[in-house]
Amino acid sequence: MSFFSTPKIGIDLGTANVLVYVPGKGIVINEPSVVAIDTETQQVKAIGTEAKDMIGKTPDSIIAFRPMRDGVIADYRVTEAMLRYFIQKTLGSWNLLKPDVVVSVPAGITSAERRAVIEAGLRAGAGSVIPAKEPILAAIGAGVPIYEPTGHMIVDIGGGTTDVAVISLGSIVTAKSVKCAGNKIDQSIIDYVKRTHNLAIGERTSEKIKIKIGGAMRQSPENELEILIKGRDYVSGLPRQIKMSTNEVVIAIERELAIVIQTIKDVMHETKPELASDLIDNGIILTGGTSQLRYLTDLILAKTGIKAYLSDDALYCVAKGTGIALEHIDVYKKALLAK
Ligand code: ADP
Ligand code: MG
Repeated sequence: MSFFSTPKIGIDLGTANVLVYVPGKGIVINEPSVVAIDTETQQVKAIGTEAKDMIGKTPDSIIAFRPMRDGVIADYRVTEAMLRYFIQKTLGSWNLLKPDVVVSVPAGITSAERRAVIEAGLRAGAGSVIPAKEPILAAIGAGVPIYEPTGHMIVDIGGGTTDVAVISLGSIVTAKSVKCAGNKIDQSIIDYVKRTHNLAIGERTSEKIKIKIGGAMRQSPENELEILIKGRDYVSGLPRQIKMSTNEVVIAIERELAIVIQTIKDVMHETKPELASDLIDNGIILTGGTSQLRYLTDLILAKTGIKAYLSDDALYCVAKGTGIALEHIDVYKKALLAK
């Protein structure tokens, strides 16, 4: 970035994590998408990591708010505060140049919501704001040649939502979003441990179980992984430790994964035959944190007959996509601005 040139910032406003990408530097910020709000004064108290650390340690009047919950930008005032925080943190408060910002938005966004995002960004200090649809950014970040006249399916499985889209000639042909992804999977593990082990565990523990030993398909015993977990016994109220293995997690999260698979099938059914048949050759590209779940590519192949590929740096595809788009705005502008 030269001294007087307009700074460029790409922001992935995820339901779980906010990532900021600066061309030439890569990912410069990675923080949870949490905002702490004082319910008495309605003031924003903290954003990102600091806000997440406040959870459970602050007076009841301060609540942790996830403005991107379920992938919808629920509160534009809070979104503006978030954008301001991340822009200022990226550029430093001495900076006077207003940056060009590409910010990810859900594929199903309405034009009113789109305008609201642009206004929130401008009020937050941006010089220009391009709200770019997440599946397009994920595809760019995963290295998919989006302008080819062939259908590519992108499945982004994050914290709050699973987004399935077919892209051809630089635009989204079919898309569907469901509010079922990492958070619901974590919750289903909490429910399972309660049901079968009489043990209360928290969200952090269930996420750890999922990542350390979880999987999408049952495995033979020699392939299973194990973990020791601690929780509180529902009957005695005392702390207790149990051992869990991979297949228990597979059972616990089966229903959530069935929803993901059904969403993929729904989009295939709605896609024109010529584009749908391209998927046999191109396969399905997986992005987002939850797409890293063990054996998920196997499950998709088993249930749909189409091969699935986990992209490199699955957690960072959307953020990388904002950066690539900013660096080659002439190439990507048409795709990003498409309605
Ligand atoms: P979002 O874009 O909605 O912010 P991310 O793409 O950042 O979401 O993904 C966050 C989700 O990915 C969380 O639910 C987290 O638990 C999950 N996750 C991260 N790493 C893994 C992994 N190795 N296996 C399974 N899930 C993972
Ligand atoms: Mg995401």
